Amino acid sequence: MRWIDTHCHLDAAEFSGDVLAVRQRAREAGVEHCLIPAVAPRYFLAVREMAHQFGDSYALGIHPLYVGQVGQGDLVELERALAQHRDDPRLLALGEIGLDFFVPELCTPAMRAHQESIYRAQLLLARRLELPVILHVRRSADRLLKHLRELAPPGGWCGIAHAFNGSEQQAMGFIELGFKLGFGGALTFPRAVQLQRLASALPLQALVLETDAPDIAPQWIYRTAQERSQGQSQARNEPAELPRIGAHLAALRGLPLDRLAEQLRHNAEQALPGLSRLLDSKP
Ligand SMILES: [Zn+2]
Repeated sequence: MRWIDTHCHLDAAEFSGDVLAVRQRAREAGVEHCLIPAVAPRYFLAVREMAHQFGDSYALGIHPLYVGQVGQGDLVELERALAQHRDDPRLLALGEIGLDFFVPELCTPAMRAHQESIYRAQLLLARRLELPVILHVRRSADRLLKHLRELAPPGGWCGIAHAFNGSEQQAMGFIELGFKLGFGGALTFPRAVQLQRLASALPLQALVLETDAPDIAPQWIYRTAQERSQGQSQARNEPAELPRIGAHLAALRGLPLDRLAEQLRHNAEQALPGLSRLLDSKP
């Protein structure tokens, strides 16, 4: 089986000591390809070099959790980097961008307005450069959808609403605009009933799989609040966990694992049209 981790922050500080071993473990577990999204201009070089080193791919963008530190100059830098690397076959998307209305500091009226202006500017760039978009959605689906509808390119959008955790109506909103929905470790918790219901009921063609490593640890490595209060840090998620998360999704959908992996691979190629030529064509 060949899996694709459509969202994996291999450039994160949590991996700085052993990223080679992390990527190798993922490969041994059957993860053929990782998309590494950048979160701010200072990571652009690292994600590009990693994607080339590992035979993976990357996206460039400004993440909503970083917009407090960025201004117009960073948008100029993003535009310049996208132009400079537009012929790089491993640059597959603009991302990670979006809106975060969960973190309190980002929810003041001024910060909401700033987030939305940086988000819109990046959507316009994606539209102009005809790039797929990797979206960060946290308590912000309706607002993200509003801007996507207003700025939709004539042929529709393309990309992934990552770590999706909204309503069925919101899910269908993204799907109708051309997006796939990214599911990962959050699915694996018994209490995640609503998310599991969505992952089993949505059209199979609309789903992609991701770890969001080092974040969103699946249930089997997650440390509870009590464990953390006793001094353990939150476990580090890794792309090698992807196949086991895939097994959860296969069980939810009542599908054989190989058939699910094949379909998800196809979905990822649709969400990221540049991906096909990077994948090993051998079965
Ligand atoms: Zn992310």
